[in-house]
Amino acid sequence: MADVPPPDLRNDHRNPTGLHVPGLLDDRVVLPGDARYEGARLVANAAIDRRPAAIVLARSVEDIVATVRFAGDRGIRLAVRAGGHSAVGYGVADDAIVLDVSRLDDIGIDAASGTVWVGAGATAGALTAAVHPGGYAVPFGDWGEVGIAGITLGGGVGWLVRRFGMTIDSLLAVELVTAAGERLMASAAEHPDLFWAVRGGGGNFGVATRFRFQLRAVDTVLAGDVIVRATPEVLANLVGVLAGAPDGLTVMPSIMAAPPMPELPEDWHGRLVVFLSFCHSGPIGDDERVVDLLRSLGESRQVAIGRKPYPAMFPEPSGTREAFASGTLFVDELDDAAIRIIERRMASPSSPEALVHLRVLGGAYARVANDATAFAHRDRRAMVWLITPFADAADAPRHEAWTADFEAELRAAGCGSGAYSNFLGRDGPTELRAAYPPATLARLGELKARYDPGNLFRSNLNILPTP
Ligand SMILES: Cc1cc2nc3c(=O)[nH]c(=O)nc-3n(C[C@H](O)[C@H](O)[C@H](O)COP(=O)(O)OP(=O)(O)OC[C@H]3O[C@@H](n4cnc5c(N)ncnc54)[C@H](O)[C@@H]3O)c2cc1C
Repeated sequence: MADVPPPDLRNDHRNPTGLHVPGLLDDRVVLPGDARYEGARLVANAAIDRRPAAIVLARSVEDIVATVRFAGDRGIRLAVRAGGHSAVGYGVADDAIVLDVSRLDDIGIDAASGTVWVGAGATAGALTAAVHPGGYAVPFGDWGEVGIAGITLGGGVGWLVRRFGMTIDSLLAVELVTAAGERLMASAAEHPDLFWAVRGGGGNFGVATRFRFQLRAVDTVLAGDVIVRATPEVLANLVGVLAGAPDGLTVMPSIMAAPPMPELPEDWHGRLVVFLSFCHSGPIGDDERVVDLLRSLGESRQVAIGRKPYPAMFPEPSGTREAFASGTLFVDELDDAAIRIIERRMASPSSPEALVHLRVLGGAYARVANDATAFAHRDRRAMVWLITPFADAADAPRHEAWTADFEAELRAAGCGSGAYSNFLGRDGPTELRAAYPPATLARLGELKARYDPGNLFRSNLNILPTP
């Protein structure tokens, strides 16, 4: 971490919004009017357009402590941001201080213990690239620009989920700055209650400054897409077949209208297909068998299948922001009702790019008890993530309503329940109860009362303190 003195946050200056904000006018504090402000307030979802009072570009843990104390003492809203990829836009709020930790991105690999310490500002792609030369990986998601902080605190489901479990199943320790401005370590040995809470409870309990992960041996993987026609039979078999595959195979099926790809027969174009995007990190000797399994689901075409280094699973950053609406629930299969709803909704989507994305679970994910961490959906066989990308951010309400109605219809028909906090497209008490079963939520509320009684950390799926 950078060894520089923290900003003098006692010395208030008034910014153009009239709010007291961090006073040291050095390059760590970006105020409205600063040439950097318009860029610094942006988050990944282009539908989010908010104007914070100030953005603190923290360079050290001391900067974080000072900012937390400053916001806490004055009752100013605080939004903590790492990779900025929250779909709801938790990393920025109107009139708040945004505490941006993305510069705390040091990575320290300890090959002897097979572990890595990483600053909370690193991205999943950067850490994946850094540990790969040693033959290692940490299981994150499918997107390199996502911050390790947000994905880990929410749980983390990605290409290695069936082989090594969720991101939190490789988490050994996390250092936090609490609402009181104190630094403490949470692990199985230190503050184990807090360690339970941060594995799924999000940013409710403090600002994470660094994480320690167990490294997993992963070198090359077989990956690509098998595309099958989305007939009712294929959809009905999808979850059951893939959840029973060898643990080394993780598949992320996306149900969507077939684009006019040369690999696909012309009469498939525009009709519903399933992209079976997969990653096989198991033995090379099983490669052929897993592709055969995917092809057995229905009439299929293959695209770009081959062995590649694991970091190639993360697309290169495009440099562009995209607006998207999002919805989430868990299912154990796609039953007849779900198939009918998906077929009807996808026949007239609010955006031609809409997709029903699934994460088929099982394997190592399922070998952890529901109450072992604050993420309590280990017994579910698949996650559904409704993703509706759209071009014009001004159209957000229409796409958000379409996506929310789609999700609500699936829930009302009994097709699924629950929610993965990291895939939520909106929040409130209903979403909170979907993300956390009653016993989990009760325990989280008690821990919130202990570690953040004043609810300073509330720009997240907010857990209220329950003394
Ligand atoms: C394109 C895309 C692909 C994705 N793919 C996956 C995937 O494959 N698997 C998966 O599990 N998820 C995935 N996600 C969801 C992603 O994990 C969550 O949105 C996650 O919260 C993003 O983390 P972030 O640090 O980038 O976001 P941010 O918006 O910076 O933060 C998200 C939340 O974490 C809190 N937070 C951030 N940093 C800290 C910190 N240092 N201390 C305390 N709290 C903090 C924030 O306050 C906020 O509440 C994806 C999201 C997108 C947009």
